[in-house]
Amino acid sequence: TLVVVRQRPARAPEPTHSKEREDVAGRLEGKVAFITGGAKGQGRSHAVRLAQEGADIITVDLLEDIDSVPYKLGTKEELEETVRQVESLGRRIVATRADVRDYEGLAEALNDGVAQLGRLDIVSANAGIVSGFAPAETLDEVTWQDMLDVNLTGPWHTAKAAIPHLRASGGGSITITSSVVGLKAAQNVAHYVAAKAGVVGLMRNLALELAKDKIRVNTIHPTTVATDMTFNDPTYRVFRPDLENPTKEDFIEATHGLNPFPINLIEAIDLSNALLFLSSDEARYITGVALPVDAGNSIG
Ligand code: NAD
Repeated sequence: TLVVVRQRPARAPEPTHSKEREDVAGRLEGKVAFITGGAKGQGRSHAVRLAQEGADIITVDLLEDIDSVPYKLGTKEELEETVRQVESLGRRIVATRADVRDYEGLAEALNDGVAQLGRLDIVSANAGIVSGFAPAETLDEVTWQDMLDVNLTGPWHTAKAAIPHLRASGGGSITITSSVVGLKAAQNVAHYVAAKAGVVGLMRNLALELAKDKIRVNTIHPTTVATDMTFNDPTYRVFRPDLENPTKEDFIEATHGLNPFPINLIEAIDLSNALLFLSSDEARYITGVALPVDAGNSIG
């Protein structure tokens, strides 16, 4: 079922052509961006950052009051807050409940958004999960499969649903959010690593197949980001297996200095700025690239 959180009128606001308007004219003026996982974290940050540069936004999220899963999803209230923030910038947004695992539902939500906002230029396959930390040897089938469904099949579904719309716009940009562990190994997350490395292959093939349509495809690779995904008990326990009930502070201490210039966490905005660059015409010849945003974490 499709629960439309909020719909905006299909007509664009009249351009004002005032001096003021020119001063704030952004790098994405007139463009429409589709972002999965827009209720919170990096997805919300992406929606706001792209809207600041003039883009209208279509976003989806799988809301936690509907599905029961062993990880923390966004809420309806959080998705409404994303809507509020984008609208406060004077941009339009269509926000819908959809699951990236379900191709039909996802495509329906995107098609509806494009029908309302008129076109599609930019895609951020951002929705993702982390769950079920365990050595590969003891991972269970359900955890493995769900991880691949959300983090690998999800970006494929997202691209697949978006390609006809991007082609109709004469080209565009797809950015898939991988992880620093899409480029290297990490303890107890073989399923996450496999999915996040998998999207690099998906990205390269999409870039190869879609170059003729002027559709560029890249991945971004965050190190640990200060979002809900990081701030949860299982993550703390992975980094501090020596403690029975590690706290956020214990986690921050354990991760301090993990990266070459000692930082604990990067911020969602760091990924949004990378997404903005890759989505803009400034990156018009950049495709097939895996871009770490990781303070050097992936170097060694
Ligand atoms: P987050 O948990 O704050 O946000 C993820 C969002 O995706 C949530 O709103 C959630 O409801 C949504 N989502 C999950 N499953 C979905 C589904 N099946 N369909 C639709 N939406 C779904 O986490 P975040 O840090 O903003 O993560 C964004 C991306 O960055 C993810 O792909 C994640 O794997 C990746 N990443 C995060 C980190 C980190 O440290 N947080 C590091 C590397 C990569």
